[in-house]
Amino acid sequence: MRFDVLTLFPEMFHGFLSSSIMKRAIENRLVSASVVDFREYSTDKHRTVDDTPYGGGGGMVLKPEPLFRAVEDLARNESVRPPVLMMSPQGRPFTQKKAEELSRHSRLILMCGHYEGYDERIREHLVDEEISIGDYVLTGGELPAMVVMDSVIRLIPGVLGNHASAEADSFSTGLLEYPQYTRPADFRGWKVPDVLLSGHHAQIERWRRQEALKRTMERRPDLLDSADLTEEDRAHLRTLNRDDGPSEV
Ligand code: SAM
Repeated sequence: MRFDVLTLFPEMFHGFLSSSIMKRAIENRLVSASVVDFREYSTDKHRTVDDTPYGGGGGMVLKPEPLFRAVEDLARNESVRPPVLMMSPQGRPFTQKKAEELSRHSRLILMCGHYEGYDERIREHLVDEEISIGDYVLTGGELPAMVVMDSVIRLIPGVLGNHASAEADSFSTGLLEYPQYTRPADFRGWKVPDVLLSGHHAQIERWRRQEALKRTMERRPDLLDSADLTEEDRAHLRTLNRDDGPSEV
């Protein structure tokens, strides 16, 4: 899978792309990433990428020419232009489901804004989708682009050593993940639940499912509305409801 990132601050991606799982994915040729300074596509000798807003007001607005030229150049050899994703607090909230959907593309172009934001014609005529990583405003789209890349790249088969660990992650199953433990079995008197030491795989699976249901009900009950639940899951949730109060599932 290939990522092209359009940014005014390419140096922000150096650490991200040269560390940990991202580094290994690139070394193993599962992923390639080109980080492009779109100032190189400005059309005047001062290499201007922004200008004051029509109608007045504070801040600077990203001009359309550099971003249009950059995308057109990146896509020049493609018969179908890869999806262009704009990082924007006005976009659709990013989710694990969206990460899974994006991981099925062979190439994505990610656009990082800065300053006051983008000339509206970029949004209307160049971008396929706007993505927000949450209801807060950052200074630029670089951190959101890294969030999107990280969550998508770890879903590409072969990137994580053990693919099963991504499948059980929070949200992938529709639920939050069950509690995890490692050695020692007894740490300062706090013991690992017996079932995890039993070696009984069916019982461990059952315990994990029930703990995932409990955790989701306690922390993110909204997720239960769209989770794929069995009759046994629903019965377990009813017992939890009885223990914890009057709410109904
Ligand atoms: N004036 C814009 C508004 O009110 O919508 C905010 C611009 S923000 C200071 C600058 C850039 O940071 C945005 O163009 C976008 O690329 C990025 N950005 C900020 N917050 C973001 C968020 N929550 N999700 C995705 N991108 C964000």
